[in-house]
Amino acid sequence: MKTRAAVATAPGTDLEIRELELDEPRADELQVKIVASGICHTDAIIRDQWYPVPLPVVLGHEGAGIVEKVGADVVGYEVGDQVVIGPAFCGSCEQCLAGHPMYCVNFYDRNFGVQRPEGSKAFSDASGPIGSHFFGQSSFAEHTNVVAHGVVKVGNDVPLDLLGPLGCGIMTGSGAVLNVLQPKPGSSVAVFGTGAVGMAGMLAAKASGATTIIMVDIVPERLEFAKTLGATHTVNSKEVDPVAAIKEITGGGVNYALDTTGVPPVFAQMINSLATRGHGALVGAAKLGTEAPFDIGTLLLSGIKVSMVIEGDAVPKEFIPRLISLHQQGLFPFDKLTKKYAFEDINQAFADSADGSTLKPIVVF
Ligand SMILES: [Zn+2]
Ligand SMILES: [Zn+2]
Repeated sequence: MKTRAAVATAPGTDLEIRELELDEPRADELQVKIVASGICHTDAIIRDQWYPVPLPVVLGHEGAGIVEKVGADVVGYEVGDQVVIGPAFCGSCEQCLAGHPMYCVNFYDRNFGVQRPEGSKAFSDASGPIGSHFFGQSSFAEHTNVVAHGVVKVGNDVPLDLLGPLGCGIMTGSGAVLNVLQPKPGSSVAVFGTGAVGMAGMLAAKASGATTIIMVDIVPERLEFAKTLGATHTVNSKEVDPVAAIKEITGGGVNYALDTTGVPPVFAQMINSLATRGHGALVGAAKLGTEAPFDIGTLLLSGIKVSMVIEGDAVPKEFIPRLISLHQQGLFPFDKLTKKYAFEDINQAFADSADGSTLKPIVVF
């Protein structure tokens, strides 16, 4: 069938909206009519070739939509189901079997390989095959074929056009807090970075009952906005040393911290701001080869723990319904981070995300 899709063709250039041919879903796939898709930092860095993902490709990995075809071997889904599409994973490796599919040993191939495991691509046009299956989905398309085991049914009483970001950016920040850091009620949490991932981490910290929630960034407006959503303290790290500020606020160090930036000096600040036996997590992507220096002599005495967290270490089928429940109860107002754009305005949405004027753009088809 024909479908419109946004194609990434060269680093730093706008996505091109083209009409492509979409092939038939394979036995383990669903064909989904995408209703809306979030835009995530990872889409921008792949467009710009931080990772060597072959171009041209249809990006997009925060898709939400409606099932319109069900592959022959897929059970548990019907035409008309409303779904949010999570990352792909193999389902059979040691990490998948242990309940940590976001650490699937085949994660890179399945999510960044931009083709099926057997080598075919779902999209094509007169120029030849176009990369598909980005994060198992390539959701910047009106119709796409997705890996069924990453697909989460969400019921019919939900605002589907809002939910795509639960499949990556919002899951990344909130999952790092709820699944990995697991702050105790009454504890302190610091979040470095007030993008959508950091704000989602902040909302999760609040939902966990953390009572000191410190947001660190260099953009005053974003820090003010964070206060309206649950931050108890903000630190402008352009103006003050964030480590000293956090130690003063917490009386010696913060119990839990999240670095959403992947910037080496910020990662070091996060580690140095932790209390004794504190727990920090890195979720921000850095270019391959990025290193950060540490004083391991001092760190040994601190007993701290640092986790590297992919996609919130979530099991999307278990976690996304929990986020929806929290949202329905008013305890996780992630909708306040989002702004909707027409699909035709996808490059404007990328630009607004890059300059920080929109936290979480969602393109609506
Ligand atoms: Zn696996
Ligand atoms: Zn993402």
